[in-house]
Amino acid sequence: MAERWDVIVTGLGAMGSAAARELARRGLRVLGLDRYVPPHAHGSTHGRTRIIREAYFEHPAYVPLVQRAERLWRELERDVGDRLFVRTGGLMIGAEDSDLVRGARASADEHGLPYEMLTSAEVRGRFPVLAPERHAVALLEPRAGVLFPEACVRAMLGCAARDGADLRTTEPMLSWRVEGGAVRVATAMGEHVADHLVLALGPWLPEFLDGAQVQLRIERQMQHWFAPRAHAEGFSPDNLPVALWETSDRMFYTIPDFGDGVKIAVHHDGEITDPQRVRRTINEQEDASARDLLQHFLPEAAGELRERAVCLYSNTTDGHFVIDHHPMHHEVVIASPCSGHGFKFATVVGEIVARLVADEPIEGLSLFHCRG
Ligand SMILES: Cc1cc2nc3c(=O)[nH]c(=O)nc-3n(C[C@H](O)[C@H](O)[C@H](O)COP(=O)(O)OP(=O)(O)OC[C@H]3O[C@@H](n4cnc5c(N)ncnc54)[C@H](O)[C@@H]3O)c2cc1C
Repeated sequence: MAERWDVIVTGLGAMGSAAARELARRGLRVLGLDRYVPPHAHGSTHGRTRIIREAYFEHPAYVPLVQRAERLWRELERDVGDRLFVRTGGLMIGAEDSDLVRGARASADEHGLPYEMLTSAEVRGRFPVLAPERHAVALLEPRAGVLFPEACVRAMLGCAARDGADLRTTEPMLSWRVEGGAVRVATAMGEHVADHLVLALGPWLPEFLDGAQVQLRIERQMQHWFAPRAHAEGFSPDNLPVALWETSDRMFYTIPDFGDGVKIAVHHDGEITDPQRVRRTINEQEDASARDLLQHFLPEAAGELRERAVCLYSNTTDGHFVIDHHPMHHEVVIASPCSGHGFKFATVVGEIVARLVADEPIEGLSLFHCRG
């Protein structure tokens, strides 16, 4: 007879590794399955750095979650003795009434977060490698920073395994069904049976929704790293905050040089695709477009192109996450926090998933309900 698990976690990327860690920590018998060997570069959780910020322009409801997530990242750092998080401060740069600046300020005011407002000239004075548009302003929040996603996933999987989770890589789920009070997950190795199933499949989730009305659009995103051609010290994480920029036609972000170059990426202007047919190469025109953006806003960063990578966003229609029970199968939990801003929350998502599995009441999740 097949061994019966308390929980099967499918997908061991950012959310699945966090869920497996938290479930195992609570003493549950956990089986984790992944299609690849995480951390890997096929999904949404690669590219060396992820921004963590508190003055949350997307919605003030995220602020308590990111604060809890940060405490848990620190706890994880202490647990594994590895550096996972560096505080750099964060700039939100745009017109005073832009979604970015207005939204970040509203979140900061609602939650009493520390911040400063700077004029464009003040930004240039404090951070001479930045060249915001003359009419722009910036919200500077001191508590933002950078997480190292591959190290974070490695750390969470290490803790999960240490606490007894059985983690099996290169064993993709082929299908799942609920039958006779159990969840049955089929893989090429056979059938696994559990009381609960967590779907943490990132951009692969749409194949496995089984009737849940979650509209996800998978978007190709590019990340570029350039070596500064002058004033390298001005781009170091000690001297330069992470920055989100909103201009009249796009939003993009820049991350200081942690040794691999200054990172730049546009937020949401990619092709709609899926993990099977996504174009994983980047052409010269796309490199030139990233360089042009740097030349305009961080001109001295636009030196030699060091590296580039394609990554995937899983976007909901409203840009918020889905973290909920499956609408037809209460024993199945869906964890799809992406829309391009989910990584920073992974630790707290792991905790929320574990509480959903345990049927504990949780406040403040209405933005993340599965509709349908
Ligand atoms: C370029 C880029 C920049 C970003 N920047 C930020 C940022 O600065 N700050 C921030 O907070 N967020 C950011 N995000 C968003 C964040 O990275 C994502 O929200 C997060 O990584 C999503 O994690 P996930 O676990 O849902 O997906 P993934 O990490 O992709 O995990 C899904 C896992 O499921 C596995 N899988 C797939 N199919 C199967 C199957 N059939 N059986 C078993 N396993 C399977 C995959 O192998 C994979 O390991 C960014 C995303 C991208 C792409």
